[in-house]
Amino acid sequence: MVDGTLLYQGKAKSAYLTDDPDTLVLAFRDDTSAFDGEVIEQLAHKGAVNNQFNAYIMGLLHDAGIETHFIQRLSATTSLVRRLEMIPVECVVRNRAAGSLVKRLGVELGTHFEEPLFELFLKNDALHDPMITEHHAKAFGWASSTELHTMMDLSLRINAILTHRFSEIGLDLIDFKLEFGRYHGRIVLGDEFSPDGCRLWDQATGEKMDKDRFRQRLGGVIEAYTDVATRLGITIES
Ligand code: ADP
Ligand code: UDP
Repeated sequence: MVDGTLLYQGKAKSAYLTDDPDTLVLAFRDDTSAFDGEVIEQLAHKGAVNNQFNAYIMGLLHDAGIETHFIQRLSATTSLVRRLEMIPVECVVRNRAAGSLVKRLGVELGTHFEEPLFELFLKNDALHDPMITEHHAKAFGWASSTELHTMMDLSLRINAILTHRFSEIGLDLIDFKLEFGRYHGRIVLGDEFSPDGCRLWDQATGEKMDKDRFRQRLGGVIEAYTDVATRLGITIES
């Protein structure tokens, strides 16, 4: 089944062809990047933790009626997925102010929003993933109006599902990034959901349990990711 030809190597995952043109193997590596790839370090076990974290979340979303690319986990660090035609637009949902939003608009860190905020960014490291509007996506042919509306609708549904699940384990889902792609005419959730692409704050202590530990050099990055996984009931196999 695994053809083994490397299709592309991203900053944190590698995608390999299989003998089925409709599937890929995603290999989650220990490489950890920040600031659009300016900083890259190896964090032991991150590939395994994120692969197994992502498998859990994709399963949860599937059970809640969201179509995802995930088929099955193959090993500690690899998963079989449907091969999507990726849309080069990152969908960000925010429940509280953090990260680039705080810098861009000067709002206070942690501000709660009455309704979740939905933003679009162009996936382009060389340009530092600039924020775009729906009109840019349409004008440059990155996604159609219908596709963008589906991506927004799915992102907000995913936010409701995950906000609820994380709050059950004492965590606030502050914000997260999703990537979607086309699969036989449908918009399907791709890429990954792991602490690398979201912000999670402990409700009791305010502690950051996500990639901000790496970005801000707080230490204990993989310990925090593993703690979240354990609270979700995931036993990480190495
Ligand atoms: P980056 O591109 O940000 O460096 P990764 O290291 O995570 O990120 O690389 C994974 C690459 O695989 C990304 O370009 C992502 O868009 C792509 N990808 C994720 N899921 C799929 C899929 N199901 N089909 C095709 N490509 C995918
Ligand atoms: N994010 C991501 N990949 C990116 C940009 C953002 O996974 O290329 C995630 C990030 O981890 C956070 C959310 O999207 O959970 C919003 O990120 P933000 O725009 O605040 O940018 P940052 O401060 O992370 O650069």
